[in-house]
Amino acid sequence: MQADLVARDLMAQGHWVYCPHKMSWGWERDKRLHREQSLELDKSFLKLWAEAIYRIPGESPGADGEVAYAKQLGLRILRPCPGKAVGAYHDRMPGSRIPGCPTCHGAGFVEALE
Ligand SMILES: [Zn+2]
Repeated sequence: MQADLVARDLMAQGHWVYCPHKMSWGWERDKRLHREQSLELDKSFLKLWAEAIYRIPGESPGADGEVAYAKQLGLRILRPCPGKAVGAYHDRMPGSRIPGCPTCHGAGFVEALE
């Protein structure tokens, strides 16, 4: 699971990370819970805890909704470094920390300019 790898990579860099769908994986099978509850749970971490959101590329209406909410809250929106365009950087996985990358200077991520 790519999100899990990216989350651990960020954690290894010293950031505190909450990976929403990792936390509530499989909860949709519990008939006592509603999907809306999981979405509200994820939003609560953005509202009460987060300073930034890291968006991994790929189609995800849920992630798009979280980014929109994070923007409303004024959080930093981060995305994987696009450093692949300048050479061999970041081929391992999105967000991988590559010392010497001229784009992100080794962080593995950059501010999303939207
Ligand atoms: Zn980079």
